[in-house]
Amino acid sequence: MIPPTGSGEFDLIARIRARVRDRGDVVVGIGDDAAVLQPPPGQQLAITTDTLNVDVHFFAQTRAYDLGWKALAVNLSDLAAMGAEPAWCTLSLSLPESDPAWLDEFLQGFLDLAGEQRIALVGGDTTRGPLSIAVTAIGCVDAGRALRRAGACVDDDVWVSGALGDAAAALAQWPTPRDALRRRLDRPQPRVALGRRLLGLAHSAADVSDGLLADLGHICRASGVGAEIWLPTLPASDALLDLAEVERVVWQATGGDDYELCFTAAVSQRDAIVRLGEELDLGLTRVGRIVPGHEVTALDASGQPWQGARQGYVHF
Ligand code: ADP
Ligand code: MG
Repeated sequence: MIPPTGSGEFDLIARIRARVRDRGDVVVGIGDDAAVLQPPPGQQLAITTDTLNVDVHFFAQTRAYDLGWKALAVNLSDLAAMGAEPAWCTLSLSLPESDPAWLDEFLQGFLDLAGEQRIALVGGDTTRGPLSIAVTAIGCVDAGRALRRAGACVDDDVWVSGALGDAAAALAQWPTPRDALRRRLDRPQPRVALGRRLLGLAHSAADVSDGLLADLGHICRASGVGAEIWLPTLPASDALLDLAEVERVVWQATGGDDYELCFTAAVSQRDAIVRLGEELDLGLTRVGRIVPGHEVTALDASGQPWQGARQGYVHF
């Protein structure tokens, strides 16, 4: 392995290690050949990895702090969608050069969110190459209780958290997005507390990373059902409401990168879900229902099928 220029690999790792906070269940953390972790009795592990590549997932000018935050946030969002409690993570960094100032700022963003969500950084890898950040996050969930994409039932309500479309609007306005939109693109808030509380309440869930219609499509495929989405009910932030309606709906229905949760639940859970939203101070909006079949149909204000654009972000 070729270390970053200036042979600073070990300096960089030392900088990381010095700032990491401990958790009692980390038996061996950074500094050995592998981390050793102690899962709580009776729990299963939920494990997820996501990579952010320069020029694919973010612009080269993105602030280091925001990159650190987002690299962890997108993984925490996956744990949230499973109803798992974040516990440990690893960080694989490919850096074009050894730049301690950049690394410190990156770590600040990463560790601020890690501290908020009480997830410990327990290892990783540091190499030289085009800027790329891969994070693996591990969470715990009571055995057999993880929330899955499979499980949606005909007549379930379809719900989404927060607001949709902000991140896509920020991208469309690049390089001068409005601050409120840019913040949503750069610093997504993983809905971890919501995911944990949905255990036993929701039948299925996924996070909205590729766009609502695409991610709900994943739930439907896994569950062997279809869905109907009512476009006028999709939640929008104030910043998004200022924009023209036509674009707004496209971003809300198909824009990726919002990292809200989409979940389905029995009609009998409506009141409990509304109360949960109030308790968490997080908007939870009913946007459709599960139907027989295998298609996701979006209906416009007059109840007609929407001839929308593409259904979400596809890499290849
Ligand atoms: P090895 O060659 O055995 O893989 P490394 O030199 O890559 O060891 O890493 C030394 C230690 O530093 C390991 O515990 C590893 O997990 C940790 N580490 C390396 N890079 C990072 C990083 N970017 N973030 C957190 N820990 C790291
Ligand atoms: Mg290594």
